[in-house]
Amino acid sequence: MKQPIMLVTGASRGIGAEIAKLAGRSGYKVGVNFNRSEQPAREVVAEIKANGSDAIALQADAGDAKQVAKMFEQLDAELGTLDVLVNNAGILSKFNVVDTDYAQLNEVFLANVFSQFYGAREAVRRMSTALGGRGGAIVNMSSVAARTGGLSGGAAYAATKGAIDSFTMALAKEVGTQGIRVNAIRPGLIATDIHDAHGGLEQMERLAKSAVPLARSGSVSEVAEVALWLASGAASYVHGAIIDVSGGR
Ligand code: NAD
Repeated sequence: MKQPIMLVTGASRGIGAEIAKLAGRSGYKVGVNFNRSEQPAREVVAEIKANGSDAIALQADAGDAKQVAKMFEQLDAELGTLDVLVNNAGILSKFNVVDTDYAQLNEVFLANVFSQFYGAREAVRRMSTALGGRGGAIVNMSSVAARTGGLSGGAAYAATKGAIDSFTMALAKEVGTQGIRVNAIRPGLIATDIHDAHGGLEQMERLAKSAVPLARSGSVSEVAEVALWLASGAASYVHGAIIDVSGGR
């Protein structure tokens, strides 16, 4: 039987790396996208191969349309046609609205929102049954910040994730009859290095104890499990859904 193929953006570390590795262990061939962190991406690829599946590292700035198009061509040529896209790449930002400048705003919207449009565009072109494809699934990484407003100084980040919630519901309507399921995950406080921008892991763990009903942060594995479930046939009637993975927060 043909092995399904998954592309994970921003997969050299954190949640993306964990999704890529779990996908490998679940029988997927995996495209491991990175922007600048080539060595860590190669380590993710090596681990997937050591566990008996296949993977390639794919360099592209997910917020750059041309680079994303080239990355998908490389995936087509070296691994095969995509079955699942996980739009995971993203960055945290910290600046008050009163200090907003174009460069900062542009950076966070390119990385968090434009990236998901560009990835979805290339994925739908390949997966849509209306375009000769065989269907597939898209999983978008949102955040609880979409509904809480995020941490202080996080307006731009929260706004990008609010956009992802709307984008997910809209794309689900657009491609539901084309064999493509689209869903999103809203992680809460998950222990990764993304928190360096907001005081680091220790501060995040303190916040998790008081702000999260389960009184702890989540692990990358607890998010990856949900991503793999959403991608799988077990979630065949789950579409346009935005799933909180946030310990109740
Ligand atoms: P992380 O910083 O560990 O990983 C993010 C990865 O995305 C990094 O490898 C980074 O280099 C990559 N990336 C960023 N911009 C990119 C670009 N333009 N092109 C390619 N790669 C790019 O963070 P994480 O915690 O693993 O976050 C993964 C996703 O989960 C993000 O979308 C983030 O917003 C979301 N999220 C995380 C948390 C959390 O608490 N960790 C909570 C809610 C949502």
